[in-house]
Amino acid sequence: MRQHTITALWEEVPDDADDLVVVRGGFRIYRCLCGIRLADRAAAELHASETGRCTTCLGGTVEDIVPGFSQPCTACAGTGRRGVQLTWQLAHLEAQTVITDELVRGLIAPFTGPFRLSQVADLVRDTLGLPPGRLPVGPRVRDVLRGLEAAGELVLVSAPNELLRGTTVVLYRDPHWEHVTR
Ligand SMILES: [Zn+2]
Ligand SMILES: [Zn+2]
Repeated sequence: MRQHTITALWEEVPDDADDLVVVRGGFRIYRCLCGIRLADRAAAELHASETGRCTTCLGGTVEDIVPGFSQPCTACAGTGRRGVQLTWQLAHLEAQTVITDELVRGLIAPFTGPFRLSQVADLVRDTLGLPPGRLPVGPRVRDVLRGLEAAGELVLVSAPNELLRGTTVVLYRDPHWEHVTR
């Protein structure tokens, strides 16, 4: 049986490179151990999917965000497997229908000062009786809170934990928000 292990090697990333292109798979050379030609990210993702690998980390279990910074793949829960990725995608969809803006808004209403993402995620788990690992609660709650932030209801009050590419690609481990007082 042929061995399919896809690796992505960083090319030189210019300082003025488009950050979105960098984090979404650009400036890399993709190769698979089986020798197939992979012209770009799309070809690499297709080959990963055909060979049962996660299309986000291409089976490598880690996501390379920028040169020098990787993190465990969140799409497949760090397994590298397409099957787990698909199951997890369904769980994301389920989380979207269960964890609504209204639910989160109600849970954070009593907070008078800054509150953390992890605090709200715990509240959601308690309220819905969800065991850890059942649904991607943290990522969904983060999306909801960011939506409320974009709508002007909340303001992000914590500084990023890491600046990965200047101040445009940054990492927040457990961001804090607070209500906008009118
Ligand atoms: Zn291959
Ligand atoms: Zn993955």
